[in-house]
Amino acid sequence: MGLDVGWAVRWLTLSAQAMAEHRVELIELDRPIGDSDHGENMDRGFKAVMDKLAETPPETPAAALKLTAMTLMSKVGGAAGPLYGTAFLRAATALGEASDVDAATLAAALQAARDGIVARGKAESGDKTMVDAWTPAIEAAAAA
Ligand SMILES: [Mg+2]
Repeated sequence: MGLDVGWAVRWLTLSAQAMAEHRVELIELDRPIGDSDHGENMDRGFKAVMDKLAETPPETPAAALKLTAMTLMSKVGGAAGPLYGTAFLRAATALGEASDVDAATLAAALQAARDGIVARGKAESGDKTMVDAWTPAIEAAAAA
């Protein structure tokens, strides 16, 4: 069974729920070295993604991810908006126009997302950035 647009929307919905659920934790984590707005920004951004997905239902998995990218870039401030926007845009490009994607294509899309973050943020593994979380997750996805 392929991964269709319904799967993509469920993934984004669960992401939005996770952002809402961990909003305060993200704010606390952003306090020591940031300006305590990361949880607020990500929660607002993903709520806007949910609104956009309802307003303009996407027809392919890539369309869902592209809509997410555009929304996060316009709604999330600081570095996170461009970084997540780039990640979702690169993933959308890697998925192509297919209505269903297979597991290997998904793993390649996640890899493309991580590479986009690395390129945009100029971070490497070990720099204590989100790249350190993405990389093992992508390796696990590829192995699975
Ligand atoms: Mg901030």
